[in-house]
Amino acid sequence: MARHTGPVCRLCRREGTKLFLKGARCLTEKCAVERRAYAPGQHGQSAGRRRKSSEYSRQLREKQKVKRIYGLTERQFRNLFDRVRHETGVTGDNLLIALETRLDNIVFRMGFAPSRQAARQLVRHRHVEVNGRRVTVPSFPLRPRDEVRVAPASRELTMIQASLAALSRATPVPWIAVDTETATGRITERPARDAIPIAAQEQLIVELYSK
Ligand code: SF4
Repeated sequence: MARHTGPVCRLCRREGTKLFLKGARCLTEKCAVERRAYAPGQHGQSAGRRRKSSEYSRQLREKQKVKRIYGLTERQFRNLFDRVRHETGVTGDNLLIALETRLDNIVFRMGFAPSRQAARQLVRHRHVEVNGRRVTVPSFPLRPRDEVRVAPASRELTMIQASLAALSRATPVPWIAVDTETATGRITERPARDAIPIAAQEQLIVELYSK
């Protein structure tokens, strides 16, 4: 399925939880999940009164939720899962770590962009360098000690300056170090699951894809 291009608040309402798809703006705007706490669409308000959800439905919704948080298409998400399922360790943890260490997510976590969607745009538009080389692939996988920086010619972009100014108010993740002066960041270590601030039951996704 193609990438969602409509209003992102509908996705949060569909999952019944705040996915923070607008990044920092979700903290200041009136949130649609709070204003209309039911699924979007004609039958949204009656959906909650239906019978208890099945196990498959819970697994599916969890997969959709995580996929939407990171802004992947179904094919990208499935391909990523197929890649990590052969790695050693807990598959659910490996899946979240692989999602977290994508270049677009790291640019967002480092505070160079206000949302993952905006971070993807920055990468595609050649504003980001990895270890001194320009990278334009949002899914580019990063490893510990990789250095990510905004290209010097792009540092004065309004969006980047505003995002960096807001960074001091954000909650940093412990496995990333950022120098706001030079718009440079480094992954200090492979993130552990409990250092990834995503409220997901990744085991449900593993169960869904293992059927
Ligand atoms: Fe989701 Fe943010 Fe919209 Fe709230 S404001 S519904 S968290 S995207």
